[in-house]
Amino acid sequence: MSNYVRCFGTEFIIKSFIFGGYDMTNKKIISKYKSEKSEEKNLSFKDLIYCLKNEKTNLLNQSQYNGNKSETKDFNNILNSIVGFTVGDALGVPVEFKSRQKLEINPLKEMIGYGFHKVPEGTWSDDSSMMLATMDSIIEKKDIDYNDIMKKFCDWYADSKYTATGITFDIGISTSKALQKFYNGLSALECGGNGEYDNGNGSLMRLLPIVLYSFYNNLNEEQEIELISNSSSLTHNHEISKLGCKIYTDFVKSLLKGQTKAQAFNDILSKDYSEHYSNGSINYYKRLLNIKFPELSSSEINSSGFIVDTLEASIWCLLTTSSYENAVVKAINLGNDTDTIGAITGSMAGILYGYESIPERWISKLKNKEYLFSLINKFDETLINLKYNENSDAKKNL
Ligand SMILES: [Mg+2]
Repeated sequence: MSNYVRCFGTEFIIKSFIFGGYDMTNKKIISKYKSEKSEEKNLSFKDLIYCLKNEKTNLLNQSQYNGNKSETKDFNNILNSIVGFTVGDALGVPVEFKSRQKLEINPLKEMIGYGFHKVPEGTWSDDSSMMLATMDSIIEKKDIDYNDIMKKFCDWYADSKYTATGITFDIGISTSKALQKFYNGLSALECGGNGEYDNGNGSLMRLLPIVLYSFYNNLNEEQEIELISNSSSLTHNHEISKLGCKIYTDFVKSLLKGQTKAQAFNDILSKDYSEHYSNGSINYYKRLLNIKFPELSSSEINSSGFIVDTLEASIWCLLTTSSYENAVVKAINLGNDTDTIGAITGSMAGILYGYESIPERWISKLKNKEYLFSLINKFDETLINLKYNENSDAKKNL
């Protein structure tokens, strides 16, 4: 029996969404390099990515963007953030909900399997699946289509699309309710809950592709605020969630511009959020938006699934460490919502320290990584095309 029947009823099968298939171009590049390097033993996934990066550079040099070298940097930023995020998620999955006290006795330092969700090592969770679903929608639509993004979230939840091992596990309560409302016929932007208790980190955890889209489309502040608010409201429609997503966006965009983590932190401190958000919501972020925030001790940092706690914990871990590995290990050992805090921290640390800083021993363990990488490659192509096409439908619609 189809999972659609199990989760949503028969109507959903009839709607049968069209999935983006495996990227054949990418597959050809991988097999080409595999055959060229066939004499080498145990070609690592990291090697394959270097091959793909080289191939992409060659293609770019022959392309309409000839002469503009920034595309390689763009690709690196997109790759670094998404792989950094996914590795952080997979690292945190086995110890999700584990207390800080237990992790202090037995800290997690390597990618392991099983634990709370009983899944193999290298399995990413709902955070990465919903991020990949968003990327796939942008690739397919070359635009932001909220209803299509929600359809693809349903594809993940009901039919295990975008998962690491073909099994869906882990879904937040607000997200689950929103998907049910969408299935029942509400339009995408009406589905997210707007109560005080609808401020889990469920919209923050899937926001990265939207941040990248905004950055590479050079959206102005008003356009970006609308995009971020709408994206959050698919599942989390309260202003606290929307503001948390905006602060994360501002921080990540500073890193994408090549700023240091201290400069990125200063950028969010110097921003006047009161132009677009109420004082009531800003008050929740008062501690984060304070110069003394990095000086807080770990005992003062909460690591719950409340969006304010998650954002604080992730930025604090980034500000108080100096490598990708240390940042995500510190994030996960805070305990509780380990996968999401690991993922959010990993997205920022990936940009800051680069792909090379993400341990190969972790990347090599990721499940379904060829699919992950093929989607990153297609997403990069989509964003770069949008960036260089001033007359794109996406830009006209904004
Ligand atoms: Mg998760």
